[in-house]
Amino acid sequence: MISAQEALGRLREGNRRFVSGVRSPDALMSPTRRDECVAGQEPFAVILGCSDSRVPVELVFDQGPGDLFVIRVAGNIVASSQIGSVEFAAEQFGTRLVVVLGHTRCGAVQATLEELQWPTENRSRNLSSIVDHIRPAVQGLLATELRRDPEALARHAVRANVRASANSLRQGSEVLEELIRTEDLLVVGAEYSLETGTVDFFDGVPVSG
Ligand SMILES: [Zn+2]
Repeated sequence: MISAQEALGRLREGNRRFVSGVRSPDALMSPTRRDECVAGQEPFAVILGCSDSRVPVELVFDQGPGDLFVIRVAGNIVASSQIGSVEFAAEQFGTRLVVVLGHTRCGAVQATLEELQWPTENRSRNLSSIVDHIRPAVQGLLATELRRDPEALARHAVRANVRASANSLRQGSEVLEELIRTEDLLVVGAEYSLETGTVDFFDGVPVSG
């Protein structure tokens, strides 16, 4: 299995291809590749992304079948089942890079900001649980000057939510803590820009990366 740093390099290169509209032949689901995947998988990165239809993870990193272990949930939140999925991939496949991938104009983050400012009571309990996961990461921002600038507030809130999810993975699981300590597992936070297609790895990336 490749190291977290190498995996990060691959994702960066793949995203550069995506931004410039180039598609690698390796990213296609050819019959040969499909056959290779039957025997097993060795995904080189785990990506916890948002369900938003505009952020198709394999496409924005120009990767193909067998490359990425992807978990998608509205607002890229971290609850037990997401932690369990990351643990599974890291233990089972030896994957050493975990990326929490948020994105600009995230509807789940926006809904949370709205709920904090103008609470409603008619939200379903299940939907509320998503808002409840995002709330602690963003509510502090409403006590700052950002509350006067909705666009800036939204931008900061997306990144704060990514940082919170990444921290929950770094500190919310004995399995992952152990892998971070002994196996150089790396958890980083990133933001996909709907406007440019670029992924910015802004949280937890070692200086050399
Ligand atoms: Zn989203």
